[in-house]
Amino acid sequence: MRVKLLAHTPEPDNLVAAAARLCYSGADIATIKMRLQGDKAASMVAKLLALGHESPLEHVSFTFGIEGVSRALSHQLVRHRMASYSQQSQRYVAEEDFEFITPPTIADSAEAGREFLAAIGAIRRAYSSLLLHVPAEDARYVLPNACATKLVATLNARSLYNFFALRCCRRAQWEIRALAWEMLRLVRDVAPHVFDQAGPGCLSVHGCSEGQMSCGSPYSKSELDGGKDEPDRRA
Ligand SMILES: Cc1cc2nc3c(=O)[nH]c(=O)nc-3n(C[C@H](O)[C@H](O)[C@H](O)COP(=O)(O)OP(=O)(O)OC[C@H]3O[C@@H](n4cnc5c(N)ncnc54)[C@H](O)[C@@H]3O)c2cc1C
Repeated sequence: MRVKLLAHTPEPDNLVAAAARLCYSGADIATIKMRLQGDKAASMVAKLLALGHESPLEHVSFTFGIEGVSRALSHQLVRHRMASYSQQSQRYVAEEDFEFITPPTIADSAEAGREFLAAIGAIRRAYSSLLLHVPAEDARYVLPNACATKLVATLNARSLYNFFALRCCRRAQWEIRALAWEMLRLVRDVAPHVFDQAGPGCLSVHGCSEGQMSCGSPYSKSELDGGKDEPDRRA
């Protein structure tokens, strides 16, 4: 899995602080922006997060380049509707030698690994054979969820909060969880105040939302600050 933060709104911490300040102040826009730098921005953003006033987070967006992930992952990712996506097409890009993602449980088992590779080989042969008779847009129907894909995804900070709460969670599937933790690490580097409270639901002020489905093993703040899904991270 390779994940890059390709672009983001400049000065995200200061911009969110300025937008928040505007709500609570009579000062004009230029003054607000000037006054809210550094520590003042940090405390304004902290106040905002404590209040649960989330709409100012929508003013800052983050664009990620994501590759070497499976179609099983991308299908889950694009369920997050508060986002924009561009994904490599299987209509226009032929996949004779498609890359594939091997789940760790399969890689760890000699027998499962053999079966998996045999299936991938059979699918590649069937796909190449189909391409002799039909267009790629139809030959792709035999391709597996394991097929590697590439995307560009843009989300604002509010949507990222929701994404991290759901997908950094231990109950999330291992591959999208690894992606979520990597994205969290990248955005915390460039917007530490905005994402100070972001992460799995168990670390939020609301706590775990999984109810009876809870894993019973909440993350610690140190795991969040380390930027890693340390205990059982699989990538
Ligand atoms: C552990 C786990 C298991 C899952 N299992 C399944 C499954 O078995 N089957 C399945 O289909 N999906 C499953 N999902 C996907 C899940 O149902 C959501 O589609 C996905 O997580 C996107 O979340 P979202 O809707 O909050 O995000 P977004 O689409 O980004 O929406 C963000 C927020 O905007 C609001 N919103 C967006 N659209 C609407 C709307 N139309 N009406 C009202 N409010 C809206 C909601 O508050 C929402 O939380 C699973 C997700 C997780 C994390």
